Amino acid sequence: MKWKIFIISNILLFNILAIIPSAKENGKDLYRDNCKRDLLVLMMAYPDKIKDIEISKDGYIYLLLNNDEKIIYDDKKEKNKYEKISNADIQDTLEVIYPLDSISAVVEGIDPGRGRAYGFLNSIYGGTQSKIEKNLSYFSTSCGNIMFNKNAKAGEALKKSLDEAKKLTEKDNKINNYIFPISGTYNYRVIKDTGRLSAHAYGIAIDLNRNDSDYWKWVDKSKGSKRIEGYPKELVKVFENNGFVWGGKWEHFDILHFEYRPEIILKSKFFSDKLENGKEWYDGVPNNEENKRIIDIINSKM
Ligand SMILES: [Zn+2]
Repeated sequence: MKWKIFIISNILLFNILAIIPSAKENGKDLYRDNCKRDLLVLMMAYPDKIKDIEISKDGYIYLLLNNDEKIIYDDKKEKNKYEKISNADIQDTLEVIYPLDSISAVVEGIDPGRGRAYGFLNSIYGGTQSKIEKNLSYFSTSCGNIMFNKNAKAGEALKKSLDEAKKLTEKDNKINNYIFPISGTYNYRVIKDTGRLSAHAYGIAIDLNRNDSDYWKWVDKSKGSKRIEGYPKELVKVFENNGFVWGGKWEHFDILHFEYRPEIILKSKFFSDKLENGKEWYDGVPNNEENKRIIDIINSKM
């Protein structure tokens, strides 16, 4: 009889262990580890802009910038999906994982990168029109001289993208029609009907050649999907590899639009999976001195 009791007690023990949530499944730890991942990709993406992080006594997380400005990471306000676009903090902008795989139709229900944390953009690229304009520069690229913001290596990333895009046209002549004529980069303007500044106002977005099916307000999803289906996937890849998100991957599609948001690309590249038991929160990023330095800063704070 003894062995039966042994088996039953083991089954009971197994069941009890299975229902006790592990530390990682605890909501608070998941939130904290996701914050750490966000802070890591931010510090990787803007190494010459973000110097440290700070946690206030009441638990708010701030980015400390080299210009001594302090930017809140998560305002902890309850927001619906529209408010996460219209009134985004940095945490909101990194919440939805941007899909790095190629798509062939309008995506459903996500707008990764369409929300912007304006306090952060103001600090990085300039908080007024005149400050932004002081940070603009012409970049000589294989696709022409293009004006872009030079801060945070945005202009360099644009130059790399356009130089690589030009190489694609040498292999496939059709790609020229998707690039030229370039529709615009810097333009101090608000997004129609919203009052919010466009990424073009910061000089961190480029519109390639315009097509009548490019924008969600101009055409329905089936026309948008048709345009996305034919859009050169290599061209999108070139921009993504250089830190740009593509408006073609938004439910509210903006297919000609590419926007420099390197932290969103890094988060997607390294942290598209859910946190797993037995793994460190930073598992996935390259193991180098600079990343180790950032991980140590973050671990020492939270
Ligand atoms: Zn645009």
